[in-house]
Amino acid sequence: MKEIHGICIYCGDPRKATANLWKYIKAELIPEAERYTPIGQLGGAIPLARPADFPIKFAAIMEDIKFALEEFAESKFILVGHDCGIYKRLAPKNFTLEEKKRDIALAAAFLREYYPNVPVSAWFKNVGVAEFEKIS
Ligand SMILES: [Zn+2]
Repeated sequence: MKEIHGICIYCGDPRKATANLWKYIKAELIPEAERYTPIGQLGGAIPLARPADFPIKFAAIMEDIKFALEEFAESKFILVGHDCGIYKRLAPKNFTLEEKKRDIALAAAFLREYYPNVPVSAWFKNVGVAEFEKIS
């Protein structure tokens, strides 16, 4: 049986009240039999949508992706966004929840274009809601 494995890009914020995404991702989005490489920088996939705002994070994510695809033969991407505090770095602009969700969609679109042979699914974790919202 072929083992299914992939890469999960999410925000590593561990705070229980607002994030703690990896726990929910493993419970809700990753089947028991599948294995994912976690790429859990603070800010998650946002730099893929905003490389000019977060150039170092963008480069680090792309380096991790390249390594995981080459060395671990990962075959799927899961992106998970949330109401992320990293946007405070872009003050004074305020970002709405819809803009934050759009960034996750943009990050997914970027990966689909960059790696056309690797399927991408994108999700959003709303505070206080157990189920993930499908973004794309
Ligand atoms: Zn975050």
